Amino acid sequence: MTTLFEKIISGEVPCDKVFENERVFAFKDIAPQAPVHILIIPKKPIENIAAVTQEDQALLGEILVVAQKIAKEQNLESFRLITNSGRGSGQEVFHLHFHLLGGRQLGSLG
Ligand code: AMP
Repeated sequence: MTTLFEKIISGEVPCDKVFENERVFAFKDIAPQAPVHILIIPKKPIENIAAVTQEDQALLGEILVVAQKIAKEQNLESFRLITNSGRGSGQEVFHLHFHLLGGRQLGSLG
């Protein structure tokens, strides 16, 4: 089944795009939890971290480098990068995504 984020990548659903290359896409979260709340996703449809395979290793590394670049562009000295994996973690969209959060003092996790 096509997920919402695949429709965002293809342009079928509009978004506020922040970054795009051949493999990685980033856009602003529609319901921001912090002044900066950006979702960084692979274009490859991977459900979540539990579904990654050895062949995704370079892609995951690239996502972290893109996250660092976006954090710098957003002038974030401190930030949080989190990903939910599975319904029990709060995952709602089953296309791997990393939340980049910053721009305010962030509380503890949990
Ligand atoms: P998660 O709960 O980790 O699966 O996160 C899904 C995120 O997608 C939530 O933070 C939502 O606010 C966000 N979201 C849902 N629909 C859209 C949309 N159309 N554009 C941007 N972000 C969205």
